[in-house]
Formats: sequence, structure tokens, C-alpha cells
Amino acid sequence: MEKASKKSTGTKKQSSYTPEENNSMLQELFLEELRDIYWAEKHLVKALPKMEKAASSEELANAFNEHLAVTQEQVTRLEQVFELLGEKARGKKCEAMEGLVKEAESVIEDTEEGTSTRDVALIIAAQKVEHYEIATYGGLATLAKTMGINQVKELLGQTLEEEKETDELLTQLAENNINASASQEEA
Ligand code: FE
Ligand code: FE
Ligand code: FE
Repeated sequence: MEKASKKSTGTKKQSSYTPEENNSMLQELFLEELRDIYWAEKHLVKALPKMEKAASSEELANAFNEHLAVTQEQVTRLEQVFELLGEKARGKKCEAMEGLVKEAESVIEDTEEGTSTRDVALIIAAQKVEHYEIATYGGLATLAKTMGINQVKELLGQTLEEEKETDELLTQLAENNINASASQEEA
């Protein structure tokens, strides 16, 4: 980028983050990204119960219920991250998560209650959410490592693993008969 006046030279060189001097462009970007995902996770805490309620199968409803508990822990983990950085935890509206949740709501409207087709649609909507989260936490964990803030990197990495596990679980639910069951449903 043309504005950058200094280029980092060594590949192993890491800067370290101190709250007193958190005024670099990159540190501000990092904080903004944290505020975005913090808002997004809190938005999901509100959306997941609706998805649980809309699910046709008990197994999918349970998966959403379990992920709600996990998501609440992730919110707390982000609060720990803000604290480690000496910053107040605050959210900033994530347009992407707002849109993804709207999509989940519209597939509920567009599908019939009690059908496996609805569950297929909910799984896809939920996997879009998980992939957004995986991209975010993956990028932020990598950045935290570069910035030399290892405790933060660990916390973000933990959440990253949970999102990946959830994505895989959703794939399993689709494969272990929700998709097949939907394929038997009449128009
Ligand atoms: Fe999450
Ligand atoms: Fe966002
Ligand atoms: Fe998630």
C-alpha cells in the first residue's frame, strides 16, 4: 500500500501490541474487526433460537441449541480479548451477518413447517454463517500471531475450531439423511 512508510523486513519479525500504543493503523483495523465479529456473535445469540424453533428435525434443533451455548461462550471469549487489549468491549454492526441472518429468516418463510426441505435450507443458511465466522476468526487469529499477541491468538483460535466443528456437524446432519429425506418430499 502506498501509504505504508515502513516495510517489515524479516519474515520472523513480530511487533508486539501494547495497549498504551494501540494507535497504529493495523491495530485500529484489528479492533474494528473485533467489534464487527462481536456484534455478529451477539446477533447470532438472538437468531439461533428462531432457527432452533423453525427446525423440523429434533437433531437439527438440538444442533442449533448447542451452538447457541457455544456462541454465548464465544461472546465471553471476545470480551476477554478486548480486556487483554485494554479496550472496552463494544460492537459495530456487521452488515454481512445481518444479511446472513435475514437470509435464514427468509428461507424459513419460504419453506413449509415440518418438512425436511426446510431443514436442508436451514443447514445451508447456517453453514453460510459458519463460513463467514471461519473466515473472520481465521484471519484475525493469523493477524494476532503476526502482532505478537499470543493469548489473543489462542482465544481466537479456540473459537475458530468450534466454528469448523459446527460446519462439519451440519454437513453430517445433511448427509445422515436430512437431504435424502427432503428428496422424497412432494412438491
Ligand atoms: Fe460464533
Ligand atoms: Fe462483518
Ligand atoms: Fe458459529
